[in-house]
Amino acid sequence: MTSFSKNLLGWFCKHGRKNLPWQQKPTPYRVWVSEIMLQQTQVQTVIPYFDRFMQSFPDLETLAAASLDQVLHHWSGLGYYARARNLHKAAQVICDQHAGQIPDDFEELLQLPGIGRSTAGAILSLAFQQRQPILDGNVKRVLTRYHAIEGWPGETMIQKTLWKMADQQTPQEKVAEYTQAIMDLGATVCTRSKPKCGSCPLSVDCEANKQDRQADFPTSKKKKILPVKKKIFLILKNDQNEVLLEKRPPFGIWGGLWSLPECDQEADPEAVCDQRFSCKITNQRKLKIKRHTFSHYHLEITPLLIEISDHDTVVMESDQTLWYNNNQQKHLGLAAPVASLLKNIEGMKQ
Ligand code: SF4
Repeated sequence: MTSFSKNLLGWFCKHGRKNLPWQQKPTPYRVWVSEIMLQQTQVQTVIPYFDRFMQSFPDLETLAAASLDQVLHHWSGLGYYARARNLHKAAQVICDQHAGQIPDDFEELLQLPGIGRSTAGAILSLAFQQRQPILDGNVKRVLTRYHAIEGWPGETMIQKTLWKMADQQTPQEKVAEYTQAIMDLGATVCTRSKPKCGSCPLSVDCEANKQDRQADFPTSKKKKILPVKKKIFLILKNDQNEVLLEKRPPFGIWGGLWSLPECDQEADPEAVCDQRFSCKITNQRKLKIKRHTFSHYHLEITPLLIEISDHDTVVMESDQTLWYNNNQQKHLGLAAPVASLLKNIEGMKQ
């Protein structure tokens, strides 16, 4: 065992997190769901989502049998919805091809939608006690600082180096504790800003600490200026205080979620409403502009509240459209900005 893993395990024994919900009854299913939720999302945000998810989908069979809408509803607000779609799809694949048992084989896990090398490593070490390294964002931060590795960790060569180091540091025994320990250290001690080197078990040998260059690692990616896309979101409200929602295609941004009809900034919203929905507009007003940032662009949303009459003669519900009211408690997957727009519409408040 390296001094790195030895010191880390000693620290974990006293200071590691042992009461997280997925650490209780750590079945492969619970570990898998938590690992997917924890990709790009912090522990404190994940906890209530995880608890609600487990209440509704306590096991893999229930998840596989659920509709995508139900799954997306439980993911609403957590972001990166491809994770939910992949989780749902993977549950169905496991039921069909693995007799409902999550595989304990690295290559088989990698074949499942949404499971990459690090997630497969985490599932195998945490749920099956197999010696597998992991390399999530927290681990990358710890390793780049400890070894003072220059270069953006997304680059192939740097990735290779980091995987090699992650592998070298992973002990032969106590692998589940070690995996949890390195994730915990990155999340609570070796934090992005102001790492607590004074209480870190690795401080004596850590190069970044010795050189007092903690802020230089990991090297940031060269910043790209994100483009701004502008869209008008049409909030068509009928005389029963219901708003028209459309289901987005199953892929891409907010894939499979319910959203508002939209049109380009240059389009004439009245003409769009007339062509698409044959609506009689009785009133319209612009609401406050909202900005939502995706990883590759900013979306500037101009919400346009349009009151219409004679709704039921013109827009019928289908599996792609529905009339929505907050009070009806429909369990729908809504994109976060759409949910927040709907909450603030008069007459629709819960
Ligand atoms: S000594 Fe500081 S920089 Fe180095 S691993 Fe520990 S917390 Fe991170």
